[in-house]
Amino acid sequence: MAVTEPRTAPRGSPINLLCRIVGHGANRQRARHDMEDYWAPCRRCGTMLVRATTGWRAPTMVEVEKHAANLAQIARGPEGMRME
Ligand SMILES: [Zn+2]
Repeated sequence: MAVTEPRTAPRGSPINLLCRIVGHGANRQRARHDMEDYWAPCRRCGTMLVRATTGWRAPTMVEVEKHAANLAQIARGPEGMRME
């Protein structure tokens, strides 16, 4: 089976060998919603994973940037946007 592997891991943080073989395992207890998607770090290598309809997967660079923007928005707090 050919696996297309998007470059999602930041440089300098090698993906755990087990993750390469069996895939990442999301730590659901640390899952957070960023107003768009659920994100959770991999239990083994810490790579942030995004929850898709088919399960947890490594995000694309676009999604990583979107996630960072959403987190920044959350960090800014209620100014401009109020969370109920
Ligand atoms: Zn992993």
